[in-house]
Amino acid sequence: MAKIAMKFGGTSVADLDRIRNVAQLVKKEVDRGHQVAVVVSAMSGETNKLVGYINALSPHYDPREYDTVVAAGEQVTCGLLALALGAIGIPARSFLGWQIPIQTSAMHASARIEDIPPENLDACLASGKVAVVAGFQGVAEDNRVSTLGRGGSDTSAVAVAAAMKADRCDIYTDVDGVYTTDPRIASKARRMEKIAFEEMLEMASLGAKVLQTRSVEIAMQHRVPVRVLSTFDPDAGGTLLCDEEDIVEKKPVTGIAYSRDEAKISLMKIPDHPGIAAAIFGPLANAGINVDMIVQNISEDGKRTDLTFTCPRTELPRALKALEEAAPAIGYREITSDANVAKISIIGIGMRTHPGVAQTMFRTLSEKGINISVISTSEIKVSVLIAEEYVELAVRALHSAYELDVA
Ligand code: ASP
Ligand code: MG
Repeated sequence: MAKIAMKFGGTSVADLDRIRNVAQLVKKEVDRGHQVAVVVSAMSGETNKLVGYINALSPHYDPREYDTVVAAGEQVTCGLLALALGAIGIPARSFLGWQIPIQTSAMHASARIEDIPPENLDACLASGKVAVVAGFQGVAEDNRVSTLGRGGSDTSAVAVAAAMKADRCDIYTDVDGVYTTDPRIASKARRMEKIAFEEMLEMASLGAKVLQTRSVEIAMQHRVPVRVLSTFDPDAGGTLLCDEEDIVEKKPVTGIAYSRDEAKISLMKIPDHPGIAAAIFGPLANAGINVDMIVQNISEDGKRTDLTFTCPRTELPRALKALEEAAPAIGYREITSDANVAKISIIGIGMRTHPGVAQTMFRTLSEKGINISVISTSEIKVSVLIAEEYVELAVRALHSAYELDVA
């Protein structure tokens, strides 16, 4: 007998027939003698609808009330799945975040899970019932409902798996695994059998939408074996997240991610003296702007230089406002911004040992006439900023250049 956590995304629970189908998949595991906890998302489209209500009523909402509203979608699906299981003779009960409790930080709308005392879950499983858990939500200080940020039910699932010491966490979604790149823009993308935690972490944080980044961090910390597989074709194989050591053939590049949620800001002719970076990034940090890539030019005369950085596109207006307010203290001559940029990243643990990987990227993009405006690297990834209109072209060209195309 094993302990298994299963997670079903929005498309897997989009209507009653699909919820019945999920109940059958859960029944299969129960029939094998396993103890099962199931984490569910809201029906697809539901969370967007709730966010829409909030924005229409109160664009400058109180994030605590935002959480109360958006957590509602998961309450519906966890109750419905418990009912669907009961209807086919599988004893089950629903749990909202606070009932477990899934304790989180007070960062409403993007709270982090701090602890999941396992007693209530364990008692439910020990009594022979399936625990059906509302994903995405938890409870913060003052007993307020909190949510984990969009896509957060992946994180709920992996954290629940860690808390119950599950042997496996199966993430059921609408694709049959993790692909070398987004199959919607590159038809030659391939499903990976395995991917190292470190690579998946980069893929997720650099734009691949399969898993919420935080869920991969928790899986890596607690060594939870995670599988990504399709609800509609569960036998198709899936992708296993595993330790680096379990991957035999370490290719230089295993995946290509992209993000359109980028904007670029340049400050021209800033004074080139100590403290200038602090003068720029201090006000941005205070405004809660997530700065990502940064380049500063060498100044020609030792007096003035230019600095460019990127931030999420949605944060651009706030970033510009913060910089304009800090203009006297910074002393730039001009500020420009561009919201039509995108970040393309190549990722692979093999990069540590293969030389020349970045060069292949730069050559491939130049052959397509694509200009690179900012570059950043880490041990296992290289990211470049390009004009958004070239995203598809760049991804396909790089996918071929690194020999990732399906034969
Ligand atoms: N329902 C939430 C969302 O749409 C959480 C999730 O699906 O993971 O973001
Ligand atoms: Mg998701």
